[in-house]
Amino acid sequence: MSDVLVLVDHVDGQVRKATFEMLTAAARLGEPVAVWVGAGADAAAGDLGRYGATGLLVADDPALTDYLVAPLAELLAELVAQRSPAAVLVASTNDGKEIAGRLALKTSSGLITDAVDVQPGDGGVQTTQSVFAGNYTVVSRVAKGSPVVAVKPNSIPAQETGGSAPAVEQVSVQVSDAARAARITGRTAKEQTGRPALTEAAIVVSGGRGTGGDFGPVEAFADSLGAAVGASRAAVDAGWYPHSHQVGQTGVQVSPQLYIAAGISGAIQHRAGMQTSKTIVAVNKDAEAPIFELVDYGVVGDLFTVLPQATDAVNQRRG
Ligand SMILES: Cc1cc2nc3c(=O)[nH]c(=O)nc-3n(C[C@H](O)[C@H](O)[C@H](O)COP(=O)(O)OP(=O)(O)OC[C@H]3O[C@@H](n4cnc5c(N)ncnc54)[C@H](O)[C@@H]3O)c2cc1C
Repeated sequence: MSDVLVLVDHVDGQVRKATFEMLTAAARLGEPVAVWVGAGADAAAGDLGRYGATGLLVADDPALTDYLVAPLAELLAELVAQRSPAAVLVASTNDGKEIAGRLALKTSSGLITDAVDVQPGDGGVQTTQSVFAGNYTVVSRVAKGSPVVAVKPNSIPAQETGGSAPAVEQVSVQVSDAARAARITGRTAKEQTGRPALTEAAIVVSGGRGTGGDFGPVEAFADSLGAAVGASRAAVDAGWYPHSHQVGQTGVQVSPQLYIAAGISGAIQHRAGMQTSKTIVAVNKDAEAPIFELVDYGVVGDLFTVLPQATDAVNQRRG
């Protein structure tokens, strides 16, 4: 069976859930081989093996980690040339998509971004994308080269295989001067809220203009569910919540198990960022709000009444 390269998405050695999801997808296509850039691979090898990685290629070199993403594309291109993998999977994040684009160009391969499913097909790797704000499902196949696929986090349930830690193999690449044109001069950790990251969370509770600027009930409900907090553009443009939490076409795209929209009307640009969520719930005091067209459950009511009641109910049941 051919290798399937999976670029590990990690922050300081903490592996993001998207990696385990990609390893699960990779196992359907061939032998999942994790590619780790930076330090910390040894400590994570057990977890990677548990989710199916049968190989672990490690490149811990400042020539890769001290720059923006261009050197990573060169590393992967070198590995593709050496191993002719059945596919290369990266997380469909901003960085991941840029790496994928550069890699596809370097390897003269086709590229598919925002895949929500990856399966073996007759003519090669077959992917599914949810496009036009989730109104169409597109099934695609890369017709040339080793397919490069950026997989949307939270789309494919990660499955443990019970495998053991794969052997670590050191790899290196001669990074070109061109790829080192943009150097990272400093990194500052984001202030921790204790809540999960928006793209990784199984549950997201978002607030919109209907909050009137008071995100207290949204945050309290999110905390009762262990959820991340999102916001509509109207809310972030008003300065009520940080821009990094904006969900939508020009914000973050999320695909959680459960998405709860409170005081959000459901504009097409907001839908574009959340319509692939598995279950959608809306709380809106206007029964005619467009968001109700796409929800699984709708509550017509004032969020300042509904959310505190729901929070109490959840807390009591957990309690
Ligand atoms: C190029 C472009 C890109 C965009 N990108 C994005 C994007 O990425 N993300 C995004 O979200 N938007 C985006 N927008 C903006 C988008 O078009 C909408 O303007 C925005 O989503 C509206 O936000 P909202 O639903 O919070 O506000 P509104 O549309 O004003 O809706 C507020 C809702 O709250 C309800 N409400 C009011 N009070 C209460 C209450 N007490 N309890 C319950 N419900 C209440 C109202 O009935 C209403 O339905 C973009 C627009 C453009 C042009």
